[in-house]
Amino acid sequence: MADAQYDLVVVGAGIGGYVGAIRAAQLGFKVAIVEKDKSLGGTCLNVGCIPSKAMLESSHRYAEAVHGLGIHGIKVGGVELDLPTMLSRKDQVVTGLTKNIPMLLQKNKIDVIKGTGTIPAVGRVEVTLSEGGTRTLETKRIMVATGSVPATLKGVTMDEDRIVSSTGALAFTSVPKHLVIIGAGVIGLELGSVWSRLGAKVTVLEYLDRILAGTDREIAASALRIFQGQGMTFRLSRRVLSAKVNGATVVVEHADAAGAVELLECDRVLVATGRRPFTDGLGLEALGVKLDKRGCIEIDQHWQTSVPGIFAVGDCVPGAMLAHKAEDEGVAAAEFMATGVGHVKYEAIPNVVYTNPEVASVGRTEEELKDAGIPYKKGSFPFKGNGRARALASTDGVVKILAHAQTDRILGAHILGPSAGDLIAELAVAMELESSAEDIARSSHAHPTLSEVIKEAALAVAGRAIHI
Ligand code: NAD
Repeated sequence: MADAQYDLVVVGAGIGGYVGAIRAAQLGFKVAIVEKDKSLGGTCLNVGCIPSKAMLESSHRYAEAVHGLGIHGIKVGGVELDLPTMLSRKDQVVTGLTKNIPMLLQKNKIDVIKGTGTIPAVGRVEVTLSEGGTRTLETKRIMVATGSVPATLKGVTMDEDRIVSSTGALAFTSVPKHLVIIGAGVIGLELGSVWSRLGAKVTVLEYLDRILAGTDREIAASALRIFQGQGMTFRLSRRVLSAKVNGATVVVEHADAAGAVELLECDRVLVATGRRPFTDGLGLEALGVKLDKRGCIEIDQHWQTSVPGIFAVGDCVPGAMLAHKAEDEGVAAAEFMATGVGHVKYEAIPNVVYTNPEVASVGRTEEELKDAGIPYKKGSFPFKGNGRARALASTDGVVKILAHAQTDRILGAHILGPSAGDLIAELAVAMELESSAEDIARSSHAHPTLSEVIKEAALAVAGRAIHI
């Protein structure tokens, strides 16, 4: 028997789901959110963005203390790694954030229902409660925001001990001697950086002939050289065939493009070959909700699935698997439900890799513009030409802006450099507002700041950078 009447029930309290729920409540909806995990916040807060950033920060500080302070005239001796404290700080950062979410939801009068949701019919969500029993919720609309899980790889079984996903690699209780990473994407590079800084030998095996697929090729090639200089080994054009655990050793079998097989021994393996949408057990197929061939829920421009009344946002729908994309979709879908209008400008969604230096981009790459036959102008400026970067001793990298050859409208921007993830915000806003490169070039940028590299790159689009 149904025991509640809601305007919206959200399934999944990750960043897409809980932010969408709050926006819907702000717009006057009576909302419930269903979550199967103990803690709210989904992948991003519990086992993704936040804990990885905590470990990236701690490992960066350790590496600075060991190798990076001498040039500042600071001598340090006896630097020691206290990994248990580093891991528990990471856990505290996560708990501090996740325990805030129930308060936010309560403030917005959203009912939080702990348990696993299924959708037996349009307008109904059935919850197998974590505390035991079931509950049926009746609702005018449903928002599926069930996220993604690590993709598996044929021939490689993850035991979350010797062979781990990103979740296991955020919780190693000792520094691996030799960590082999399968996949030179964002997870491989971020977690490879963490353990390399903490003293592990790191070998990355990548199927493609490049790292960071989808990133501007020139930027990715420069990043590769920098990461190699930091001590990580990259074996490109290698396909991993299997990984077998033998006691404390793992043997990874990999082949080159011609099929020649090599074996690599290590003590830990991180599988970072992508994530897959998670919709298991929801009952979508029985309802006639269409999935694409990757298992993503198909949606229209209003985040509506093929079944009226059921919406979907975040990692379980097509597009980049990014927390902020999920959040933007949750908000826009709620706004569409309440007002008939909701919008996400997908081409202005930034992408950040939190290595050192960071890699950040928004809009199209040079390759994409060439392939689409769009005429463009390019302006680049290196961080070594910037006073603040020199003062910080962080001069690796470049800002590259791509603008339309005739209209000067910014079509893409790519940053490899210190604080790239924060700097890209200016260019994402510029793209959202459909600005020209000249708009940026004529805007005042405080001196001395890293943001002046963006201004110089915008000036370079018109061939008039000053400090080069
Ligand atoms: P990814 O798609 O970024 O990279 C996976 C890499 O693995 C690719 O380069 C691919 O060519 C390679 N690969 C696949 N099969 C292989 C094989 N058999 N042998 C060798 N290489 C192989 O995936 P990811 O790094 O696992 O990240 C998953 C998702 O999580 C991404 O969508 C990412 O956007 C998201 N994420 C984002 C952030 C961030 O925004 N900073 C951080 C972590 C994860």
